[in-house]
Amino acid sequence: MLRITEIFHSIQGESTHAGRPCTFVRLTGCPMRCVWCDSEYTFTGGEHVPIEQVMEKLRLFGCKLVEVTGGEPLAQQSAFRLIQQLCDESYEVLVETGNYISTQNLDQRAKVILDVKCPASSEQSRNHWPNLRRLHPERDEVKFVIADRGDWDFAREVIREYGLEDPSG
Ligand code: SF4
Repeated sequence: MLRITEIFHSIQGESTHAGRPCTFVRLTGCPMRCVWCDSEYTFTGGEHVPIEQVMEKLRLFGCKLVEVTGGEPLAQQSAFRLIQQLCDESYEVLVETGNYISTQNLDQRAKVILDVKCPASSEQSRNHWPNLRRLHPERDEVKFVIADRGDWDFAREVIREYGLEDPSG
């Protein structure tokens, strides 16, 4: 069972997948409270839906690109099973996660978009740093929301420390 805020079909607006038709599964709830959050409507409410019912709805859209997002999608244990099932059915799966929950048990076929929290978000201390070591250079992506110069310097330091600019090197 998953707690779902919305499932909808649109155009992907972020990452290197921007511009592609995509179906979004937005899960309810987030343990973080970024000061500039634009998804506060996902913190409460939602509807409890069995995974198979989510899959049925996604099949009806007929779109092979699916983004699992939130809120914080990985805060729900069942999200890991949904992602696995999507991969089993040959969907291309993007997982947008706020770098608070470990990605260790995530299906290796899913593409992680890791939203590293900068200082101005007020949630920098909750970053789960081992997630950055798990990033796959040809599959995963990293996102920084930059609010000020401090965030810029922080992002540059993280990119340098984890070799994100040239992961192959
Ligand atoms: S992690 Fe995402 S959904 Fe959660 S508070 Fe931060 S911006 Fe909002």
